[in-house]
Amino acid sequence: MQNIEKNLRRVREDIQKSAQACHRNPEDITLLAVSKTKPASEIRHAYKLGQRDFGENYVQEAEKKILELSDLDINWHFIGPIQSNKTRKICELFDWVHSVDRLKIAHRLNEHRDSRSAPLNILLQVNIDSEASKSGISPEQVMSLAKQIQSLPNLSLRGLMAIPQPRDNERQQHIPLKAMFNLFNELRKIHPQCDTLSMGMSADMQVAIAEGSTLVRIGTAIFGARK
Ligand SMILES: *Cc1c(COP(=O)(O)O)cnc(C)c1O
Repeated sequence: MQNIEKNLRRVREDIQKSAQACHRNPEDITLLAVSKTKPASEIRHAYKLGQRDFGENYVQEAEKKILELSDLDINWHFIGPIQSNKTRKICELFDWVHSVDRLKIAHRLNEHRDSRSAPLNILLQVNIDSEASKSGISPEQVMSLAKQIQSLPNLSLRGLMAIPQPRDNERQQHIPLKAMFNLFNELRKIHPQCDTLSMGMSADMQVAIAEGSTLVRIGTAIFGARK
């Protein structure tokens, strides 16, 4: 638990430094604390230290923690692969979904989102390195899926998300992140309400910020290694 405090402080400092190094305002970068596999007590601790956005990958695991922490004013982000039989729960539990990658899922989310609640914030997941093992749409599919989602009243399209293939050298890390930034700018020409580019994890956060990320998803560097 003391580690979380120290780690959170260090990650915040790193965001500041990375932003300053490329003349960006650190306040334009949201820190999403990825709490998958970690207990509710650690989330509560991070919350007490001022953290407000948390990300989870598994609906069943998240549900228990979200109910246990319902006294806190947390923005919950779903960042894992979406099974169609989980869309109802996702709509009930989460404020954001980063991993939308097909129209059928978007339709189900729109159907299950209570129209009296705020619209569900949606990011399209892009498979920027064309990896067979990863979900996400191809860059060429972004505009058409965005257009279709735009017409769904209970969803609010906010931008894009990517999980680039890990690369050990920094110069290589820039390539997919730059491609995402270009795609995001194309998207914003048609959908100016899009304000969120979710990219950067513990290993490539600094480069992601240099390439224009507005939201970094950090697990290990805050909560320590997962089992
Ligand atoms: C687990 C996960 C993260 C956090 O990764 P770390 O390397 O622990 O910072 C970020 N994004 C997604 C989609 C994840 O599944």
